[in-house]
Amino acid sequence: MSAKVTAVCAAGVVITAVAGCGDEGTSGGGDGADPGLSLVTGVYPLEWLAAQVGGDRVEVRNLTEPGVDPHSLELSPREIGRVSEAEVAFYITGLQPAIDDAVAQEGAENALDVAGLVDLLPAGGEDDYGHDHGEEDPHMWLDPSRMSEAADGLAEHLAEVDPEHADEYRANAEASIEELTEIDGEYAATLEDCESRDIVANHAAFGYLAEDYDLNQISVSGIDPESEPSPARMAEVADLVEEHDITTVFTETLAPPETAETIAEETGAKTAVLDPLEGITEESPGDDYPSVMRANLDELGSALRCS
Ligand SMILES: [Zn+2]
Repeated sequence: MSAKVTAVCAAGVVITAVAGCGDEGTSGGGDGADPGLSLVTGVYPLEWLAAQVGGDRVEVRNLTEPGVDPHSLELSPREIGRVSEAEVAFYITGLQPAIDDAVAQEGAENALDVAGLVDLLPAGGEDDYGHDHGEEDPHMWLDPSRMSEAADGLAEHLAEVDPEHADEYRANAEASIEELTEIDGEYAATLEDCESRDIVANHAAFGYLAEDYDLNQISVSGIDPESEPSPARMAEVADLVEEHDITTVFTETLAPPETAETIAEETGAKTAVLDPLEGITEESPGDDYPSVMRANLDELGSALRCS
């Protein structure tokens, strides 16, 4: 799509849906209205980042419905088509096999893989208590610095696809990076001096947070929240909670809290929500990336008894 057509379509949206602007798969709102470049992604934090950097110029579609665990995303043939039809497919290798497969199947011409923009950590690499996966950990969005790098990379990519608005994308990225840098500073300050550095989480989503702020993640499940924890692993985590004087076992919003509740009951710890930001629902402790990151920081500060 040329930049000129983009502008006409953007103007047309105000009045009515304009036939022929983009393809029907990128409407997001569903009625064929297309204000600009079409971008598909599969997970909320990338949706948020794309909306920040793309601004009014980019129509962002998240293939994962709100309230659904993005790890277990499945795509219909029609949705696979959308991955290839979109002007940008923004994804993280290893998070969602369905999207990895769609990109591989459909040719990766439009694909922007976050793994090519930031360094990914090995999965489970930050779990000092033994939990090895031997793959890359896709949960990079819980590190605001890596999100800043991704913002830069996305702005450059959009600038290439739509050079006429390159300055706008770069300015939007700058604004996002400013906010991400602020959040990073708040994390560093709050988590500097704490009585505990152990976080017990349901699934291993917090490896980046742990690496960045010198915390130790103990996860009951692995990288995938759907994997059923074994009774042995639950007993092991309960022992660690007692040994390390851990006061809080964290639950998340898109996975059932029973496992955490069982461990908390057994050990006398309490539960609190630490949201891996894999989707925004009514249960989320905030309504966008910055507010959930800050709500998480409040929970961490009190769970770890930071001064
Ligand atoms: Zn996850």
